[in-house]
Amino acid sequence: PPDVEELGRSTWTFLHTTAAYYPDKPTMAHRVNMLSLLRALPVLYPCSVCATHLGETMKTHPPDVSSRAALSRWLCEQHNEVNERLGKEKFDCSIDKLDERWKDGPTD
Ligand code: FAD
Repeated sequence: PPDVEELGRSTWTFLHTTAAYYPDKPTMAHRVNMLSLLRALPVLYPCSVCATHLGETMKTHPPDVSSRAALSRWLCEQHNEVNERLGKEKFDCSIDKLDERWKDGPTD
């Protein structure tokens, strides 16, 4: 079976980084493809407990693919749901903090 922790770190890296470089003004093609990518996760993600939880939280809190900032925040909130469940610290979902971690690096 996959290493759920390693898989998780790699997947969050891919998802947060992809959100950080998503357009401010996405075209319909950007939106449709991002929605497909996210909606595939509860079906395909190779940790069934994780996939089931994600499917549940995506139902009550549907993805917002309307802009880079909206998508980044939505993903941060999803990740925080998992953090909370696992007893990990919550992340500050402001765009500044997200960009520092996933796009620009520390400013000083
Ligand atoms: P991770 O949680 O992997 O975080 C990696 C880095 O992301 C952190 O070091 C931090 O810099 C940054 N970060 C942390 N929180 C946020 C945030 N909210 N927004 C942006 N950046 C942030 N594991 C389970 O045991 N049970 C589950 O049900 C489960 N569900 C998962 C669902 C999904 C969709 C994914 C992708 C992973 C899931 N995992 C689950 C794995 C789990 O989330 C962690 O990836 C794993 O436990 C390793 O944790 P970590 O402490 O190394 O850091």
